[in-house]
Amino acid sequence: MGIEEKLPAGVALTTVEGIVGYFRKASVWPATFGLACCAIEMMTTGGPRYDTARWGMEVFRASPRQADLMIVAGRVSQKMAPVLRQIYDQMPEPKWVLAMGVCASSGGMFNNYAIVQGVDHVVPVDIYLPGCPPRPEMLLDAIIKLHEKIQAGKLGVHKRQELEEHESLALEA
Ligand code: SF4
Repeated sequence: MGIEEKLPAGVALTTVEGIVGYFRKASVWPATFGLACCAIEMMTTGGPRYDTARWGMEVFRASPRQADLMIVAGRVSQKMAPVLRQIYDQMPEPKWVLAMGVCASSGGMFNNYAIVQGVDHVVPVDIYLPGCPPRPEMLLDAIIKLHEKIQAGKLGVHKRQELEEHESLALEA
């Protein structure tokens, strides 16, 4: 008989990481960061019709120090890339990045010298959302999928650490 079957009714077992992940995903605060036309759909997603407050995301923070999600909504110009990176660096850990739309994900139709061909050249991306522009329902779907990653996150493992491990593995290969 497993230990779960011996527990009285109403008692459940979990881990500290599981509880922390549960609360983290329930209070993700995005940075105010719209770059182009995709941002219109992002703003709509925050309004009463789509109501991201249902997932604990009622406020877009004007200060990156109060935000843990960067939604890159629109194409990233080469001139904007260092600014985007600075905002990302100012966000406290743990933090996540959602590339919204084909332009943020891969440059999209802007295959030219002025546009970064995917924001993952500048910051690590957790989830890519296709579309031009993705509708608010699609953004909500991506956020809910990101919740699964947040829930499964390890305590004390930060993005920078993950990046360094990734880079050292790539160097070894
Ligand atoms: Fe604009 Fe489409 Fe690019 Fe979004 S994906 S920034 S809507 S051109």
